[in-house]
Amino acid sequence: MNEQLLDTLVDQVVAKINQERGFLVEASGRHIHLSQEHIDELFGKDYQLSINNYLSQPGQFASKERLTILGPKGALHNVVVLGPPRKASQVEISATDALTLGGKVPVRESGDIEGTPGIVLINGNKVVSLEQGLIVAKRHIHVAAKDASKMNVSQGDIVKVKVVSEQRSLIFDDVVIRVSDKFVTAMHIDYDEANACSFKKGIRGFIVK
Ligand SMILES: [Zn+2]
Repeated sequence: MNEQLLDTLVDQVVAKINQERGFLVEASGRHIHLSQEHIDELFGKDYQLSINNYLSQPGQFASKERLTILGPKGALHNVVVLGPPRKASQVEISATDALTLGGKVPVRESGDIEGTPGIVLINGNKVVSLEQGLIVAKRHIHVAAKDASKMNVSQGDIVKVKVVSEQRSLIFDDVVIRVSDKFVTAMHIDYDEANACSFKKGIRGFIVK
């Protein structure tokens, strides 16, 4: 067989196997990202977040620190702070949480917080009032750069993903692809979305056309 044809066939088979294997789906609970400036204001000057456990994305961790977040209509307690610190503070909640807190909370990609509502962060008697940064995270797939071509996707693509569970398999539309060589390939949904598809740990997703 001609070598080039063989290579093409191998590529096609690898792509098909990859598609069939799919990728891990993870459910993200409500959480807070803080700038160092806000960490200082809430926990003390030059305070360092203490690591509780590492998350799937390299270097990212859930800290032991917890805050109360207060909106116009209500509060949520014991909300986990994720590390390491970011340039801008950001609070990610579900649409159900937004009903508890009150006010309209837009669906946004992480980091795209211009014009989003503010929120009050409380640690004991220390209070920080964010002017913006409250979002419902847009569902997304972190794609490791090495996996992007195998999955036939690129940065910013919007795809449909079928998540397979025992009784509530579901196709999610409007899933944004984020590619980086710092990512491990995994899809992130929030708890509303997780409940909608009877999420269990280890569940997998598949891009559908
Ligand atoms: Zn994510």
